[in-house]
Amino acid sequence: MTIPFLDFAPMHAAIRSEMQEAFQSVYDGYWYIMGKQLIDFEEAYAQFNKTRYSIGVSNGLDALSLSLLALEIGPGDEVIVPSNTYIASVLAVSFVGATPIFVEPDIKTYNIDPKGIEQAITERTRAIMPVHLYGQACEMEKIMAIALKHNLYVVEDNAQAHGANFQGKLTGSWGHINGTSFYPGKNLGALGDAGAITTDDDALAAKVRTLRNYGSKVKYHNEVMGYNMRLDEMQAAFLSVKLQHLNAWTAERQQIAMWYIETLNGVGDLILPYTHPNAGHVYHLFVVRTQQRDALQQHLKEKGIGSLIHYPIPPHLQEAYRSLGYNKRAFPIAEEIAETCLSLPLWVGMIEEQVLEVTQCIAKFYHG
Ligand SMILES: *Cc1c(COP(=O)(O)O)cnc(C)c1O
Repeated sequence: MTIPFLDFAPMHAAIRSEMQEAFQSVYDGYWYIMGKQLIDFEEAYAQFNKTRYSIGVSNGLDALSLSLLALEIGPGDEVIVPSNTYIASVLAVSFVGATPIFVEPDIKTYNIDPKGIEQAITERTRAIMPVHLYGQACEMEKIMAIALKHNLYVVEDNAQAHGANFQGKLTGSWGHINGTSFYPGKNLGALGDAGAITTDDDALAAKVRTLRNYGSKVKYHNEVMGYNMRLDEMQAAFLSVKLQHLNAWTAERQQIAMWYIETLNGVGDLILPYTHPNAGHVYHLFVVRTQQRDALQQHLKEKGIGSLIHYPIPPHLQEAYRSLGYNKRAFPIAEEIAETCLSLPLWVGMIEEQVLEVTQCIAKFYHG
């Protein structure tokens, strides 16, 4: 039995007719940009996320970039980001001309360590960008308290954690303005690129609405130099369908993660995901760690089982960020995670037999 890393087939088979209806309604409506589908999705996503506003945008990177722009963060400013995040969080900081300041994660949760944040704050710091990595909420209560104490903004990167919560409060509703992605493989995914900003702040919401659409509120009247960072009607319609299933899909992901945890507990040198007692985890990814990562991945591959590494090179060691001047060992926790992490197959519709196939294959790797 071959098991891919990700298989959309069961999810998309189950919602085929709803998605086809959504397609037809946009197709036959003859209105493809900035229309009713977008308004409906924005309302539904704001309601889901328990924020006053949700503003649809082109993708997750643009959602984060526009959020920082709306806060008027730019050259000379510093933004704190985790040292083990996906490159997009860091690129958003660079997009506005600010400097990313890396803070190491907690080695158990893989999320930014609040203790490190406080040490990294300087007189140039303007914002903290917590990333709810792999689907687990960061320690938002501590992060918000630090931000308040030092008069900083918080911009959550919620691309991997739709529906997760810390102490019952949803990710994407803690920060002053937050970005998320609906890249197809995310927990809530479009059939192409898409993203959203969430906020409770009237002024910030109005600002990003203008900026995403050429700096214009009224057609052909341009108040500021804006961008084309809009979410189109077709993707909005697809997202509205999928959003109605998101809570059920999250429960499925959590069940699959529990099957993995139960059967992999104590196998070899595997380190299984740890969830902070006050955090919700929506298992965007199921990430294990081992000193024999490359050999284990090769073994799985030979047996037809897909796996991926999130992420093999931390941002500070990327070619693109060579100018920041960091060497190897600059952020040893991020580097340790990059060298040892492995994401196992997990998708909506994955059945227990498939999970057991993966875990048996892993057990064989260690115990023969
Ligand atoms: C996917 C992702 C993004 C970027 O989203 P895109 O829609 O691909 O631009 C940003 N941050 C994190 C943590 C992500 O996983």
